[in-house]
Amino acid sequence: MTSKTMHQRLTGTVLVHGDDEFAHGSEVAPSISVTSTFRAPLTEDNIPLNPEDFDFRNPTRHVYSRCTQNVSTRAEHVLSKINGGYAMTYASGLAASYAALVYFHPKRIAISGGYHGFHNTIAKRPSTQQAKLGESCCSVIYVETITERLETRDIKFYADKVHAAGGKLVVDSTFAPPPLQYPFKWGADMVLHSGSKYFGGHSDLLCGVLVAQTGEEWKTLWTHRTFLGSMMGSLESWLLLRSLRTLHLRVPRQSESAEGLARWLSLAAGGKAYDGIPAGVIDKVWHSSLQGTDGRGFNPEVQLEGGWNPTFSIFLTDPEYARLLPHSLKYFIPATSLGGVESLIEQRSSVDPTADPRLVRISVGVEDLEDLKSDLRRAFQEIVRPQTRL
Ligand SMILES: *Cc1c(COP(=O)(O)O)cnc(C)c1O
Repeated sequence: MTSKTMHQRLTGTVLVHGDDEFAHGSEVAPSISVTSTFRAPLTEDNIPLNPEDFDFRNPTRHVYSRCTQNVSTRAEHVLSKINGGYAMTYASGLAASYAALVYFHPKRIAISGGYHGFHNTIAKRPSTQQAKLGESCCSVIYVETITERLETRDIKFYADKVHAAGGKLVVDSTFAPPPLQYPFKWGADMVLHSGSKYFGGHSDLLCGVLVAQTGEEWKTLWTHRTFLGSMMGSLESWLLLRSLRTLHLRVPRQSESAEGLARWLSLAAGGKAYDGIPAGVIDKVWHSSLQGTDGRGFNPEVQLEGGWNPTFSIFLTDPEYARLLPHSLKYFIPATSLGGVESLIEQRSSVDPTADPRLVRISVGVEDLEDLKSDLRRAFQEIVRPQTRL
């Protein structure tokens, strides 16, 4: 994967300078701005602002922070450029998912598996979804580009299917942010990210992102967000913008380490002893790098053009091992979520009751690969010794 060239849309220059037009005075770093309201100028006619005549992507002035504010506007400009579309930020990933539901208000939604929280969002959306907030459209397929097993789905396959039926494809690309994958290239109609994961990257903010393909769609999303009140917090927008500056350094590094770890662990799959990993612990390792080509000829490497997903899962031989492992490590932190600079590990059934209790998910951070391997090697040895059990 290292031979792959990074997609031109994500470059360090764009991440660092993509919002230069909004910089103030002599400031090098953007200021934190927490004002909720903005001083109004005295105008000739005092006619209220007409949203129709105003470009909220490039506001000449801000009015109230539920509509726009400087730092989130800057973050949206960077996100638009790196995702190849028109980005809108929200209070959380689920707030963005809800906004996608309001936008399309589909008659039917096809979804299988994926983030358990979104199933709740769908279940809790008002039955008066006909309320004319969004454009009505017949069907939406909602696909997570990476499955719970942390393998890759074929975006083009789902895009062709839903488009043939006149529907739309929303791709949740949280697990494969740019530069790893660009879902618009494969037919997605709208792209969703939980920015709480890789875009935020430091386990310290909640945010969601929808990326639309046209300025018109963006404007509709903006109107909905303003009246649903699901704006990202001002402090969070500052943390987000700050984190975006290093996305091109963090994600490829996390991706390479994840591939290294997954391949190493896979050599102990089937209960084999390997390189200090004791026999009888690892049953399977699931990662896109180990997926290979499927029966239809789909190879995940084509769509994951910038590297493999930095989160993967392992299936242990015993639920007890899966319970103990996250708590037996020094560098991996037992915690849910993913995408931060610190490696995280969790027994999935502890947060998703539908998950098999032997399933363990690992989000690889930016620590050194050899340290992560030694940590896992030692922990595996510890959990197979019965006397050390809690
Ligand atoms: C975390 C996550 C979400 C929800 O995002 P929040 O920011 O926690 O609301 C949605 N989809 C996927 C794939 C996620 O991992």
